[in-house]
Order: sequence, then structure tokens, then C-alpha cells
Amino acid sequence: MQKHYTGLIERYRDRLPVSKSTRVISLCEGNTPLIQLQNIPRMIGKDVDIYVKFEGLNPTGSFKDRGMTMAVTKAVEAGSQAIICASTGNTSASAAAYAARAGIKAFVLIPEGKIALGKLAQTLMYNATIIQINGNFDQGMELVKEVANHAPVSIVNSINPFRLEGQKTAAFEIVDELGFAPDYHCLPVGNAGNISAYWKGYKEYATERVCGNRPVMCGYQAAGAAPFLAGHKIDNPETVATAIRIGNPQSWDFAIAAQQESGGWFDKFTDQQILAAQKMLSQFEGIFCEPASATSLAGALNDIGTGKIPEGSKIVCTLTGNGIKDPEIAMQQCADAKPVTIEADLDAVKRAILDCL
Ligand SMILES: *Cc1c(COP(=O)(O)O)cnc(C)c1O
Repeated sequence: MQKHYTGLIERYRDRLPVSKSTRVISLCEGNTPLIQLQNIPRMIGKDVDIYVKFEGLNPTGSFKDRGMTMAVTKAVEAGSQAIICASTGNTSASAAAYAARAGIKAFVLIPEGKIALGKLAQTLMYNATIIQINGNFDQGMELVKEVANHAPVSIVNSINPFRLEGQKTAAFEIVDELGFAPDYHCLPVGNAGNISAYWKGYKEYATERVCGNRPVMCGYQAAGAAPFLAGHKIDNPETVATAIRIGNPQSWDFAIAAQQESGGWFDKFTDQQILAAQKMLSQFEGIFCEPASATSLAGALNDIGTGKIPEGSKIVCTLTGNGIKDPEIAMQQCADAKPVTIEADLDAVKRAILDCL
């Protein structure tokens, strides 16, 4: 009988900082599908293999669960009774869920009015204490770093090194599934923890017999929140993609190293381009990710179009979160597709169908 999947710590135990006696806090995160796009490559007329790593299918609907299973496992191991994070939404949902699982308390600082509805609903349901601030994520992050010096709480933001340890397993899964590393790996970049974690994962796998190659890392930002393109942190980041509405990335140096060592690059895309990619993926592939996640596809399609990513390439785009988390943006995206309302009789239904064919 095949062993029941119990999460990424069990699967990659020998590559993670846990011991035999560590009590693992898991919700069976990881093991997410790597889906090859079928229609979009044909539509753009390019000979490329594009795979999407759909992290929106993690237990709380984003890749944050990979880092959180490690961070909360280690916090509990160290005897911590409470965790804290600043969040644009997904980290708070994930921290709240893993705290509930562990039986400890979660405090989350979020920017008032700037987190997607689904993420707020999740965090409330998992019973975290939510502290809204009149400020943005970057200000929340600074406050969390301060308060952790004054209160008995463990920080579970990606400045916690265990977060990146958990998140690097996404790269392991991709190599295990494909049998090699892709030529290009495209990611949305906010705090830049994820791009740093993937690069760590690829490097660890590439130096052993597991696989011989490493991808070029492509980090894509929203035009209104693009500190890596500016070359310095920025004060008032703005984008519809709230998960990457960040002006002061905490993993700056790791991300620059990932870009330089891999021969990769950063680029930025407008909200319009990001939303177009989100809709395209839903409409033509049946994959619904949140706006920030679609930045990876927007970037890949742009770079395939210009030839920066050449034909014949194998490309992986990480889709960081689930589209269901942000119903308000989805409804705005489909404002023109209002449902028709008709009488409840057979003829009217028949007419409504024939009108559309
Ligand atoms: C956290 C998050 C990001 C950004 O990841 P970083 O590690 O902060 O760069 C992108 N998309 C979604 C959906 C996220 O939740």
C-alpha cells in the first residue's frame, strides 16, 4: 500500500531542519499540481512548454503554507505559545490556520482595507487576533520586528529562516516531477522570500545527482510596487495585486543573489497586464489564480514574445495563490458578463442557449 501523504516535512525530512523527535505541525501542504498549459502556447504561436505550479491548491490557498508548516513546527518545538506576522493577507490566513492546528495563538497585523475579502474571512474563521493598522505592509513589518523584542511572540514572516526552508520544497517537487529543472522559472516578487527559497531549493538539488541543471530565475513585480526595478525601496507601493503591494522587500539580498547567480532578471508589469494574464489563464486554461500570481504568466508571455525566453524553452510559472481569495477583483474583471435573467420556463431557457451558440 502506498504511504498516505502527510505533508512536505515528512516527504523531505532529510533536507529540512527537523529531528526524529520534532512534533510536525502539518495540514498536508505541498504536493501541488504542475499543470502544463495547452491552449495559451498554441494561441501565442510559440514552441514553448509552459507549466504552472498551482500553489493555490495548498490547504489555505497559497504557497505560504509551505513556509508556515516549518515556521510553526519550529516555533512549537522552541516552546512558543504565540506567533505574529505582518501580512498582505495570505501569510495571516496561513499563520492563523497553522496556529489553530498547533493549539497556539496567532496575531496578525494587516493594512486596513487593503486585503482581499477571502483572506480576511479565512483569518477570522481560523480565529486569529487581527490588528488592522492605518498603514501599509512595510510599516506593519517594521512594527512586528519591534514588538517581538517586547512581547513573547515568534515572528513567522519570511524573515524567519524556517519559512524559506519550507518554501524551497516547491523546487524539489518540480524537479522530482519533471526529472530536470526547467530552463526558466518565473515568479511574482513582493517581499522576495519565495524567489529566494526556490533558488535555494534548485541549488540544493542541482549540486547532487538529482538533477544537473538550474533555471534562470525571472522575478516580476507590479509596476506600482517595483523596488527591484527602481534599485531601492519605495515608500507608497500601489497595485491591484495586493499580495505584492510591497515597497521594502525583506529578502532583498537573497533575491539579488538569485537573479545574479542564475543569470536572471527582474521586470515589472502594469495592473492591466496582470489582470489580463489572470483572465487569460481562467478563460483559456481553466486555472483561476489571484491577481498577484498572474504576474508570473504576464512576465513569461512578455519575455517569450520578445524572444528573451527563446523557443524550445521549458518554463515554470509559480501561481502563488487561489483566485477564490479575491472575489471582488474577479467580479470587476467580469463586469461585462452579467448573468441574464429570464422566466422559469423551457422555451425561455432554450432561447437563452440558442442565442449564445
Ligand atoms: C506572498 C505572496 C506573493 C509574494 O511572495 P514573496 O515571497 O513575498 O515575494 C505573491 N503572490 C501571493 C499570492 C502571495 O501570497
